[in-house]
Amino acid sequence: MNTVAFDLLVIGGGPAGSSAAATARQQGLRTLVVEKSAFPRFRIGESLLPAGNRILQATGAWPKVQAAGFMPKYGAEFHRSDGSGVKKVVFANGLRPGLESTFQVERARFDTVLLDHARELGAEVRLETMVKAVAPVAGGHRVTLAGPTGESTLTVPWVIDATGRETGLMSDQKRALDPPVLAKRMAIFSHFEGVLRAPGREAGNILIVRLDDGWVWLIPIDERRTSVGLVTTVEAFRAERQEPAAFFDRAVASSPKLRELLARATPTMAFHVTSDYSYFRRDLAQERLVLAGDAAGFFDPIFSSGVYLATSSGKLAADLVARAHAAGRGLSPAEQRGYTRAVKRHAGVFQKLIAAFYDEDAFDVFMCNVIPWDLSRGITSIVAGQAPTNWSLWWRYTLFLTVCRLQRYWPVVKRPEAAEAPLGTPAPG
Ligand SMILES: Cc1cc2nc3c(=O)[nH]c(=O)nc-3n(C[C@H](O)[C@H](O)[C@H](O)COP(=O)(O)OP(=O)(O)OC[C@H]3O[C@@H](n4cnc5c(N)ncnc54)[C@H](O)[C@@H]3O)c2cc1C
Repeated sequence: MNTVAFDLLVIGGGPAGSSAAATARQQGLRTLVVEKSAFPRFRIGESLLPAGNRILQATGAWPKVQAAGFMPKYGAEFHRSDGSGVKKVVFANGLRPGLESTFQVERARFDTVLLDHARELGAEVRLETMVKAVAPVAGGHRVTLAGPTGESTLTVPWVIDATGRETGLMSDQKRALDPPVLAKRMAIFSHFEGVLRAPGREAGNILIVRLDDGWVWLIPIDERRTSVGLVTTVEAFRAERQEPAAFFDRAVASSPKLRELLARATPTMAFHVTSDYSYFRRDLAQERLVLAGDAAGFFDPIFSSGVYLATSSGKLAADLVARAHAAGRGLSPAEQRGYTRAVKRHAGVFQKLIAAFYDEDAFDVFMCNVIPWDLSRGITSIVAGQAPTNWSLWWRYTLFLTVCRLQRYWPVVKRPEAAEAPLGTPAPG
């Protein structure tokens, strides 16, 4: 039996867990983080959103992220597969000030910066320690841990589950998933050298190339390396009966735009494959357990929302726990529902944008560079991660989604046909 008393156990040392732990420490909770991997560890999901800067500022991690030498990101580019159209989103052109830039990050380093920050604020961090079971007991949970020195148990009043998408162990603690709203998809990805890059500030842009049955991301993570990944449907992949690398190469070969960008690119590591994403847990909080980050929900990463939603839900979860802990009680049913609603409401903003991306007609509206009624500036703020919480953003986003629906029956915008200028020079490789 472990004798050290903790107020809060955070399971998982990713962005959600680290942000929850840092927030809990800021409010004086004795906090233990257990992380099953040794750090640094590889993670996919390298493109941050400007709106997430504020969360990192609030947890105090931002100056450390700024000082880590990550690649500045000033915008995002969306390309048609054949190179016939591009939509450049420049964050500085958005409606909301303060969302001009953020970073592209190698996750192994970024996640370590955040976890070290939580440790520096006083959280105890146990790496290579896995939570094997969580059982509710009066006033908290009894938790079984397996670490380098063997198994131990611990009783804590509060648990924040930030275990990411690997949720098998805790499934008895979680309610059923919301029905999937998007087709079952998978991703095949690696890091490359020699990917073509634009000069100047645009070198740090994330590039998204939309294909007939999927899309490809290109995220520059440092001077040389670019994260490149293909998202496709599980169905399309199975139908081809190919190895992931061959399937990836075939997708690249099918797109003039990708052929141009990847002409001199070579992978620096083996391809990774991940599948079965896009889900939401129905209830994200219980009386003394809260789900944060991917453990709560995850969906298509087109708009790079994962890390932002992980850090914001981690912070929100810890704020909620700290308030109830100070009052000496568990979370009320209203607080539990309120947390679930708050996390899903913001996630829903991205879900609508993702649905528009996959719809042929709505995508034409999205790609249009002169959307009527000055909607572009609003969409830029949404793509930067800003929730449409004020009127000027809300009406623009609502009208944009309405135009997307109208486009199917009454074309409001024309499909752009302009050819684009050559992008630039290959990154050294
Ligand atoms: C293909 C793909 C591309 C993506 N691209 C982007 C992107 O460009 N931008 C973006 O913002 N997001 C992206 N994402 C999403 C992003 O990766 C996640 O949303 C983010 O990592 C979630 O953070 P988290 O802290 O919730 O989970 P994780 O980062 O997954 O951290 C969870 C941690 O919990 C640990 N853990 C799990 N189980 C246990 C246990 N039982 N005991 C102890 N520890 C445990 C794991 O080892 C892990 O370190 C992408 C995701 C995918 C799949």
